[in-house]
Amino acid sequence: MSEPNGPAARALAAAARDVARLVVPVCCPGCGLDDVRWCDECEATWWDAPFRSDSSAPRLQRGEGALAVWSVADLEGSAQQMIEAWKDSDRRDLDPFFVAAMTRAAGHVAGELAEVPAISVVPIPAQRASTRRRGVDLPALLADACAQRWRECRLDAVAQTALSMRRAESRGLSARQRWRAAQRSMRLERSLGRGRAVVLIDDVMTTGATLAAARDCIENAGWVVCAGITLAAAPVRTKSSQVGLGWG
Ligand SMILES: [Zn+2]
Repeated sequence: MSEPNGPAARALAAAARDVARLVVPVCCPGCGLDDVRWCDECEATWWDAPFRSDSSAPRLQRGEGALAVWSVADLEGSAQQMIEAWKDSDRRDLDPFFVAAMTRAAGHVAGELAEVPAISVVPIPAQRASTRRRGVDLPALLADACAQRWRECRLDAVAQTALSMRRAESRGLSARQRWRAAQRSMRLERSLGRGRAVVLIDDVMTTGATLAAARDCIENAGWVVCAGITLAAAPVRTKSSQVGLGWG
């Protein structure tokens, strides 16, 4: 038998650590820093106050005007890496992280909703297959967090998983095709209750096509959609032909 603190024991302990790391690799999903669940720098992005992101979403700029949407971070860099790890690599330890980020965002936006008599917090439906794989419905989780935060702010808010969507593969589709596809597949499954105004919740917004389709679906059924909140939003990519010189 080897001594408890001898070289063999130390080698064994090191090997056990390596195996543990292989089984449960731990690194910051934002920057890859080893041996932390996430690093302070990557976390800091999610403590910023939410900003109005609807101006970067062309699909929200129709008809009577844009839907007011707030987002916490631009979908790029470490923020994008973290979102992808959460959504696609099943980092379930990030569920409470993003619930906390959404709760803070909801707190910031609460004042904007003070005049709304009753709020229905409606998540954009996730793909069923994704929810099955993850074992959790991420947009519904975020909607619950918002509703809870707003009730703490003495707003009448309830989370209602009322939309369903047959999400088709949207990669390779143009923004317009994506919007049409989203519009066709969105359904309101049940009544939201008399006089409730809707706040839509999603994890990310890219073109705004999905939020716009959800708004149209809900408003066609007779409710008003007053705002949206997402964790991240694709940043504005201004085409060179649209860049003015500011000379009127
Ligand atoms: Zn990091």
